[in-house]
Amino acid sequence: MEILVTGGAGYIGSHTCVELLNSGYDVIVVDNFSNSKPESLRRVEEITGKHLKFYESDILDKAILEKIFSENNIEAVIHFAGFKAVGESIKTPILYYHNNITGTLILCTEMKKHNVKRLVFSSSATVYGMPKSVPISEYFPLSATNPYGRTKLMIETILQDMYSSDKEWSIAILRYFNPIGAHQSGRIGEDPNGIPNNLMPFITQVAVGKRDKLNIFGGNYATHDGTGVRDYIHVVDLAKGHLSALEKIMKTSGIEPYNLGTGVGYSVLDLVKNFEKATNKKIPYVITAPRLGDIAKCYANPIKAKTILKWSAQKNIQDMCIDAWRFQVNNPNGY
Ligand code: NAD
Ligand code: UDP
Repeated sequence: MEILVTGGAGYIGSHTCVELLNSGYDVIVVDNFSNSKPESLRRVEEITGKHLKFYESDILDKAILEKIFSENNIEAVIHFAGFKAVGESIKTPILYYHNNITGTLILCTEMKKHNVKRLVFSSSATVYGMPKSVPISEYFPLSATNPYGRTKLMIETILQDMYSSDKEWSIAILRYFNPIGAHQSGRIGEDPNGIPNNLMPFITQVAVGKRDKLNIFGGNYATHDGTGVRDYIHVVDLAKGHLSALEKIMKTSGIEPYNLGTGVGYSVLDLVKNFEKATNKKIPYVITAPRLGDIAKCYANPIKAKTILKWSAQKNIQDMCIDAWRFQVNNPNGY
């Protein structure tokens, strides 16, 4: 079965390609390498011993998408391609709206034209805005606090309207919590450009000596130790969640959101301590002012994915730390 993976060279996309190939799917990737490198796809093939088909292209290029759908017998699309940096989205909102929203509109137009109506979409826990309580369920009110979050929210709305107009669509909206870690091989992982925005890549860069200390954003939150609590999920578990969603949408039509998280919250200090224990590396840190827009606690109620998709996260926080560290050590300068 042929699956088109947009943004398949990226962090989550590359891990999902590994799982798809290992499960016998034929994988076609479209990626413009705006935030990734061809090497990640070469390593996906190396890990799996399988070949994938690849188009170096922008999903904004309608003609290329037309060609991809005409040349292949695609049955479903997993749509990762998009920009994801919150700070950048505040500085360049038009770029974010265009890439994420126009890109999705063009993709869906081509899908419909070629009668491919099965879609797994990468959304985010950011669509819950400032949740009133935790754990967060899928029926919680949705809102957004920055342009990046608004692109996810708008795309979710567009997909809902698309389904309302044509009940043949079968769509899974996956709301990821905080993916970290890397493939166990240490060959693929998260490879951020410049100074990492996210916590785990920052920690691994401190551990490897690229940065002198971690800045912990806020020490006075209403949490067990004052630092922010998140639901960290191993990227391989997350990738497997896409296969479960794919199996589900192949069998039914409809549109459903699913939280992909572990259901367990760890604070920044918990993650630092677990990383130190897993790797025997000391992480010097200072507590600084809270980051604008951050919330105290964010973790999932993952029961819907468990009951409907038959998926739940298997790896623990130590696995996440060990695997993130292995990728960093093996690839001190990224790909
Ligand atoms: P990533 O940047 O590593 O991967 C995205 C990939 O899409 C990159 O390879 C990039 O080159 C490609 N891309 C971007 N715009 C494109 C375009 N117009 N045409 C073709 N390719 C394009 O990001 P990721 O962490 O793997 O995230 C994947 C998806 O999951 C994104 O949509 C992101 O918003 C979403 N998400 C990520 C996280 C996270 O913490 N990593 C959390 C929630 C949701
Ligand atoms: N964080 C931090 N220092 C950093 C990066 C992040 O203290 O250099 C904190 C952040 O305030 C939040 C948690 O780590 O409480 C996770 O942040 P990340 O950016 O990884 O994910 P988010 O949940 O914000 O999307």
